[in-house]
Amino acid sequence: MQQRPYNFSAGPAAIPEEVLREAASEMLDWHGSGMGVMEMSHRGKEFISIYERAEADLRELLAVPANYKILFMQGGGLGENAIVPLNLSRAGTVDFVVTGSWSQKSIKEAARYCQPQLAASNAESQHTTLPDPARWKLSAGASYLHICSNETIHGVEFQTLPDLKALGSDTPLVIDCSSHVASRPIDWSRVGLAFAGAQKNLGPAGLTLVIVREDLLGHALKACPSAFDYQTVAEHDSMFNTPPTYGIYIAGLTFQWLKRQREGELAGIAAMEQRNRAKAELLYGYIDSSDFYVNKVSPDCRSRMNVPFFLRDESRNDAFLTGAKARGLLQLKGHKSVGGMRASIYNAMPLAGVQALVAYMREFAQTQA
Ligand code: PMP
Repeated sequence: MQQRPYNFSAGPAAIPEEVLREAASEMLDWHGSGMGVMEMSHRGKEFISIYERAEADLRELLAVPANYKILFMQGGGLGENAIVPLNLSRAGTVDFVVTGSWSQKSIKEAARYCQPQLAASNAESQHTTLPDPARWKLSAGASYLHICSNETIHGVEFQTLPDLKALGSDTPLVIDCSSHVASRPIDWSRVGLAFAGAQKNLGPAGLTLVIVREDLLGHALKACPSAFDYQTVAEHDSMFNTPPTYGIYIAGLTFQWLKRQREGELAGIAAMEQRNRAKAELLYGYIDSSDFYVNKVSPDCRSRMNVPFFLRDESRNDAFLTGAKARGLLQLKGHKSVGGMRASIYNAMPLAGVQALVAYMREFAQTQA
């Protein structure tokens, strides 16, 4: 069988090949039901079994405590920029830490529903550092504090989540973990709500994951659409309206794939984290050792998932991308707002894909010397 190219898209992104093959084999007839998953009622026993398994597997993988609800919703990451304040803000003060494009969009959208305050920003470093939590300006009585725990465009990632309790605050922490969910464990003792669009590490676009502590439910603003009221969604086990059934199915297959992953003694998310660390070290290590490429992010907050890099001579960008494509290394062009290149190396990217990228980068630098 011919190997598929390595796909470095930031999202929608590569899905594990095993998952795609499994879905393809079940496309016309899921488990002898005579129906494809897209054709099933979300209230039938077949789909309910898919949903229940997906929920249970995700809870196990991410060690989600029993007092957190897992919601499968629609609306994407940008939808959540409105849905979170509609549910949690009580139209009061909300703190934001801006570390790149995605948290910038979040604070802007929230202003429609509440009183956002900038607690900290890394704008001075052009989004290449993380502001030290000890120096964040926390508002007394804020409804929550929002961070983007992995900035997909700028390649900045919180290596540990801020511990607001240790800073003397009982404000709930909200994380937009769209682009690194399931790549590493989440410390739930620090998190009130996590949301993630599925299209990077979980499955197809159209599914949005929300994991929320129960005590935060039940405070939605009157204007909040019922289908986006977390309490309503939770009471109906994500079936208040028709959920994105095919997305839940693919995410469920991805969770099963994640559970099968092993690295030595490690399994599941721990194995994934180890592999992701190895992939990132290989790529950053090569970039730092080269005088042909550069990554501008401070080493203590470099993303393991999204690696933006630049050719020092940007006139070679097109040649670099053309050569990459010819070698089966796809979608390496950087986001238009920052330029250069970006290699997104989510869970579905094997170490061999990063090795192939580094081999190509080395070869390209040599031929251009
Ligand atoms: N947050 C983050 C961190 C993202 O990477 C993205 C998408 N790239 C979004 C939010 C927006 O997601 P969507 O397009 O699904 O609304």
